[in-house]
Amino acid sequence: MRPLRPSLQMIMQDPIASLNPRRRVRDIVAEGLRMWPDRVVTSVDEQVAEGLGAVGMDIGTVGDRRPGSFSGGQCQRIAIARALALRPDVLFCDEPVSALDVSVQARVLNLIRDAKEALGLTVLFVSHDLGVVKSVSDRVMVMYLGRVCEIAPVEAVYDAPAHPYTNLLLSSAPGSRRPPVPDLTGETPSPLDPPSGCRFRTRCPLARERCATETPPLRALPGGRSVACHFPLDSENEATP
Ligand code: SF4
Repeated sequence: MRPLRPSLQMIMQDPIASLNPRRRVRDIVAEGLRMWPDRVVTSVDEQVAEGLGAVGMDIGTVGDRRPGSFSGGQCQRIAIARALALRPDVLFCDEPVSALDVSVQARVLNLIRDAKEALGLTVLFVSHDLGVVKSVSDRVMVMYLGRVCEIAPVEAVYDAPAHPYTNLLLSSAPGSRRPPVPDLTGETPSPLDPPSGCRFRTRCPLARERCATETPPLRALPGGRSVACHFPLDSENEATP
């Protein structure tokens, strides 16, 4: 894993906790470059200044300050600068805006989107927020109880979901114009003791006998979509036999 690590960088959910409170911003952003000198193209100082500049921060102003003197949004920008300093190939974003004020979410999302375009990054973005997922994704994977339900291009997922759980998620979103779906009953089952067959069957309005005995495999459908359901919805959101 060691040679691979600099290519895989991560932005955490809690930006304040993800930065060492005792270190200065310039040292936080430089740490990866000091550990991986082969990633230094110009000089550590120059790349740190560039990285902070890319997230709208001036090294002269913020370089000697510590994380405690910044807001959550500013800390997340420092964390993005730290991740991008190594010029990674893949950036994992674990709910990177869920702890931030709505007013700064757009700025952080734009920074991630800009970095993706500029550096040709692959971004794996984890979120519960359907609006955020729609705004940043090319392809979306929907999961329930640790299993993949559906993978598809973003327009396909939002315009015509094929898995009943995706349909339910989208219909339950505040302000959704999709037709309402029947209310779900019961709690989400424990992943330690999941239902037999399809994990969603205890709450799925379309469940049939087969769903309890056979785990639906992830299978390919037209349009670059894969779905794990015995009776996926068609484009009119009707179950197919
Ligand atoms: S396999 Fe059955 S229970 Fe599972 S999502 Fe499809 S219809 Fe619902």
